[in-house]
Amino acid sequence: MRSGNFLRMIHTASLTRPLLLALALLLAAATPALAAEDEVENPIRVLFVSKSAGFEHSAIKRTDGHPSHVDTVLAEVAADRGFEITSTKDAGLINAAQLTNFDVVMFYTTGDLTQRGGAGEGIFRGDGNPPMSADGVSDLIAWIEAGGGFVGFHPATDTFHGEGDEVTPYIAMIGGEFTHHGRQFPGIVRVADAGHPTMRSVEDGWKIMDEWYLYKNFAKDELHVLALLDPGEERSKQEVYDIAPYPIVWCRELGEGRIFHNAMGHREDVWDHEMFQAWVGDTIEWAAGEGEAAAAPNWGDVVP
Ligand SMILES: [Zn+2]
Repeated sequence: MRSGNFLRMIHTASLTRPLLLALALLLAAATPALAAEDEVENPIRVLFVSKSAGFEHSAIKRTDGHPSHVDTVLAEVAADRGFEITSTKDAGLINAAQLTNFDVVMFYTTGDLTQRGGAGEGIFRGDGNPPMSADGVSDLIAWIEAGGGFVGFHPATDTFHGEGDEVTPYIAMIGGEFTHHGRQFPGIVRVADAGHPTMRSVEDGWKIMDEWYLYKNFAKDELHVLALLDPGEERSKQEVYDIAPYPIVWCRELGEGRIFHNAMGHREDVWDHEMFQAWVGDTIEWAAGEGEAAAAPNWGDVVP
């Protein structure tokens, strides 16, 4: 029998620090019991962080304490694959001690996560959930270098921007920085490496409606590009997309760890798509170290 096929939601608003500590101790106590079991009973442990310090996407919004749309989809993927997913909006969980409890960290985040946000007006004010400490990013990067897996979806590149030309350590790690986007449109996903373990369920030429980010500060020498966005007919409709196909999905290695980014997932119906859910499952398994890394830099070979 599989264990841990559930989504553990941490309601940060109602949890005090001692309670969080107690929860962490309970988690730690449960781990040795799993260690001697076979792989099925030693599930991949995923920490899903969806704090918004800037714009809050509807796909990850929790209303009246109910799981967000993405929380619900991830719970289904976790049940299907035997993952154990902890979903949180408390960025303070990104610290050296807590990270030892996880195999994969997934971000669907915006803004400077060391800021609480939430005050004032406007769509970029943030959600007011607990922030990351000043050491959070360096702890995260050190954890990846030591063998952790990091997966960033959609606005993960709209997180920890630099000032002007500055490339922050987080942006250098994830490998690209969001700049802007136009209106949503059905983009064409061009698979650049169909043989990669994360790409087996993704159809080349998949046309799907989403919000398509544009980027700067690509880590071209580090990235293994897995898919490009072909704007297709949108070139004649929106000037910002009158461009050659460009990377939207990539991976890389960092020390002993693995990093994956997928630009997609603004829209709830992208997360509902069977192909996208299979892709998410394969991505988490790869990030946790299953299969070949197959992450040699390939920018010059696949990006026009
Ligand atoms: Zn978006």
